[in-house]
Amino acid sequence: MAFKPANNIQDLQYFGEFGGVNPSISDSSTYTFLSAKTMFDTFEGNADGCYLYSRHSSPSNLYLGEALAAMEGTETANVSASGMGAITPVLLQLCGSGDHIVSSRTIYGGTYAFLKNFTPRFNIATSFVDITKLDAVEAAITEKTKVLYCESVSNPLLEVADIKDLAALAKKHNLKLVVDNTFSPLSISPAILGADVVIHSLTKFINGSSDTVGGVVCGTQEFINDLRNVNSGASMLLGATMDSLRASSVLKNLRTLHIRIQQHSKNALYLAERFEQLGLKTVYPGLASHPSHTLFKSMMNAAYGFGGILTLDVGSAEKANALMELMQNKNLGYLAVSLGFYKTLFSAPGSSTSSEIPEEEQKEMGLSEGLIRFSIGLDDDIERSFQTMKSCMISLDILK
Ligand SMILES: *Cc1c(COP(=O)(O)O)cnc(C)c1O
Repeated sequence: MAFKPANNIQDLQYFGEFGGVNPSISDSSTYTFLSAKTMFDTFEGNADGCYLYSRHSSPSNLYLGEALAAMEGTETANVSASGMGAITPVLLQLCGSGDHIVSSRTIYGGTYAFLKNFTPRFNIATSFVDITKLDAVEAAITEKTKVLYCESVSNPLLEVADIKDLAALAKKHNLKLVVDNTFSPLSISPAILGADVVIHSLTKFINGSSDTVGGVVCGTQEFINDLRNVNSGASMLLGATMDSLRASSVLKNLRTLHIRIQQHSKNALYLAERFEQLGLKTVYPGLASHPSHTLFKSMMNAAYGFGGILTLDVGSAEKANALMELMQNKNLGYLAVSLGFYKTLFSAPGSSTSSEIPEEEQKEMGLSEGLIRFSIGLDDDIERSFQTMKSCMISLDILK
């Protein structure tokens, strides 16, 4: 039977203290114990259902974590203060000095910078590979490799990872497959396809209102317990904890995610098809011309579509900048990084979110100067938006 992530979220019930339809917010950093013995047991990790201190866990964070675990089909989850606050502890929990990571080379700029510039301080080395070439991925694996890291749909090039095949490879070499699923919540369920750990930046589609940063790690109870361990857990010790008030507000936004993703996907597909018909260099996994269109289709939960992100290459940085400024003036969206807002957001990754990647490497991976990344909004009348975008392009000579 098909996996139904939105049903799994909706089937959970949490009532508030007075029968409220939303769970009560735990507005406390610390918790009292009736006996000193229970406090000791809780420190040792042996007192289920007891809260100790909110950097470790809090009821509000657990509610949100359980809803996200239900969405991804994992045993449990741990929410964090940001997406990077989820990614960095996972990698540091799984790898120590002398270990090696094989990572997709087209990943979020912050993750790339962490692996390229920061983890070498701890003697953790990373090989960056073309994740769509399974033989190249396997060739990069050494005896020291502990983690295979990728994004299900990559930022910003929209390469699609074959999660089933990568999971089989990870199993064969006894590695953990860690997948950042930020670009494709609901559409792709990496854990169901075999990933060991699934990460999201909640900042993007999941929260969807561009009012906070947040993150989550979804995985087995054992792994999440390791991350939270008082003595050796990277999440607990590095301390990127989400605040309870924020966890409660993200949970409320999560309840409408399925409707938003359907609209983002519908609008993005409409625009991608029209842009392609106009002869523009358009990349969107929902287009038959996308090299991994069939692969995406074989992995997706069909109801949610191909996601809200598309890219256009308009030829030069000057044209890209002029188009983005004009579109902002016409109220088509905002010249801003990030994604998943109700309004369309656009940015040129080469000079913004992927600027951590050296120019040479940007070229090699196909990240050109004229590339614009669009996070398509929830426009009710996408045809009107398209017509205005088209006239912007005509006036800038991008379209003849
Ligand atoms: C934004 C983003 C991150 C980082 O998340 P923050 O919440 O900004 O820390 C990680 N991965 C991807 C794919 C992202 O888009």
